Amino acid sequence: MAQLRIAFFDFASCEGCQIEFTNYGDVATLQLLEHVEIVEFREAMTETTDGRIDVAFVEGSFTREADRARLQEIRARARTVVAYGACACTGGINALKNHQDDFAEYVYGDAARMPHLRSGTARPISAAIKVDYEVRGCPMSKDELLLVLSNLIHGTEHWVPTYPVCVECKRRETICRYDEGDHCMGQVARAGCGAPCPADGVPCEACRGFVEDANLNALERVLVDRGGLSQRRAVGKSRMFTANPRS
Ligand code: SF4
Ligand code: SF4
Ligand code: SF4
Repeated sequence: MAQLRIAFFDFASCEGCQIEFTNYGDVATLQLLEHVEIVEFREAMTETTDGRIDVAFVEGSFTREADRARLQEIRARARTVVAYGACACTGGINALKNHQDDFAEYVYGDAARMPHLRSGTARPISAAIKVDYEVRGCPMSKDELLLVLSNLIHGTEHWVPTYPVCVECKRRETICRYDEGDHCMGQVARAGCGAPCPADGVPCEACRGFVEDANLNALERVLVDRGGLSQRRAVGKSRMFTANPRS
């Protein structure tokens, strides 16, 4: 089986998804990596490539018009483009700034006027180029990324669940956060992660975005009535990873 040439690229992000990938040291991952040649990966190696790529993994949001040309150049060289992490798939947490004019000043103070901090609306990379697959989450799900890679290696179809995180949570018989006096957004969050957060005793924050047609009014009501959050906090929480519409 010919090795796939894979490369990792980053845009506006904390680069946590790249770091997450470097944490994969189990035998199954290492066996899978025998079928690929990593040709660019800034967090892990110094070599770069300007040649053909079979799979380009792109992390981070599209926030500057200047990045459009680089994204298009990656697209032109890559057979398959995979957006990975919430920032790349939906704008992620970066998209919070789309709703606040003075975000840069709030974070950086007077330094906010420095040229390299100038950026515009945080958008998914699909706003600039065609994306073939998404691996959502903040950070992205390790198992899902490896599944996409495995399907690309074997030429098999990739399937993404359309149901909410609650389904996966119930499957692993986790006690519901609401039964522990907590709150949670698993009712409307996109599944695919395996519901690790409730299993670790913390609420689902919908880092993978919402399912189609999520009832956000009902979500806010449940967060307030059952979760004990203030209305303001319920609205803010439901927007944390979904500040861009339809994410
Ligand atoms: S999705 Fe989360 S972990 Fe990944 S780059 Fe964005 S902020 Fe960082
Ligand atoms: S803990 Fe969250 S994800 Fe799990 S069943 Fe309860 S609401 Fe759903
Ligand atoms: S349980 Fe919720 S917050 Fe945790 S990884 Fe899954 S979607 Fe993200």
